[in-house]
Amino acid sequence: MQIENPLLEEALRAIEKSLDEVTLEALRVEYTGKKGRITEKLKKLGSLPPEERRQEGEVINLMKKRVFAAISARKEVLVAEAIKIQLDAERIDVTLPGRGKAQGGLHPISLTIERISSIFLSAGYEVAEGPEIEDEYHNFEALNIPQHHPARAMHDTFYLSSGEVLRTHTSPVQIRVMENAAPPLKIICPGRVYRCDSDLTHTPMFHQVEGLLIDEQANFASLKGTIEDFLHSYFEKELPVRFRPSYFPFTEPSAEVDMACANCSGKGCRICSNSGWLEIMGCGMVHPKVLEMSGIDTNRFNGFAFGMGVERLAMLRYGVGDLRTYFENDLRFLSQFVG
Ligand SMILES: [Zn+2]
Repeated sequence: MQIENPLLEEALRAIEKSLDEVTLEALRVEYTGKKGRITEKLKKLGSLPPEERRQEGEVINLMKKRVFAAISARKEVLVAEAIKIQLDAERIDVTLPGRGKAQGGLHPISLTIERISSIFLSAGYEVAEGPEIEDEYHNFEALNIPQHHPARAMHDTFYLSSGEVLRTHTSPVQIRVMENAAPPLKIICPGRVYRCDSDLTHTPMFHQVEGLLIDEQANFASLKGTIEDFLHSYFEKELPVRFRPSYFPFTEPSAEVDMACANCSGKGCRICSNSGWLEIMGCGMVHPKVLEMSGIDTNRFNGFAFGMGVERLAMLRYGVGDLRTYFENDLRFLSQFVG
């Protein structure tokens, strides 16, 4: 049945314009609720003659049905729209490249220690480690640096309240190995060392690799050959190496090792202060007193030792000019060494 009724048209228009379910429910109540405007019409039926009453009753019921149908149709549209909005908001573009995980890597100091170690391991050396908190005996006395020896002042030692020290070099590891193992010995000792010193070229903690060889034939020529071979392997260049007489309490004779500047091949540059040479490490024949204190028979055995700063070797190999960059943990710097 076709109905033309201003009240129904008004209701249908309002339903069509509604934007959410709350409004729809309010419209349902307004028109078809117990006191709704269409429902109210039913109450007036009593005053009509019977024939009109039946016809008018049908019209009112039909109006209510049309309103219910319109509300439910509108509800479906609103739900569909809401789902579409939600789907659009949550849409995932599967064609976008994934974020991935950045690959980590070893710190350049660790890489350098590994590189130094692998060169000596291939020459038959073993890696030895020891405590970073040492007693004064192993850090000084056993290395021929007695109390009041001027060399102690050079070490700027961190003393602990227990009377122990933070080791100032990895040499005490060599003493501990000599005390506990019988020669022949071929070891390298990589590790952290500590000195109360901090400026452009010094940090309170840094890394050393020291080496020790003890056997019946050790001599200065074999020391020189060992170091030259190491430097050529490490820098992958056959650069000239020179030994200058020096002094260390625990070696005699002692030498400072220079290598022609890897950057300018000896011509002179900023890195080598235009000298053409780089100071690389210290070395020498182990002082007989040091061997004796650790129970080595000096009539039979001889030894040589050498020590180098890992940071310095890392700076020279990677062309890094500022020591502090190794300790600032700036990922822009560190990520260059991932490979
Ligand atoms: Zn140079």
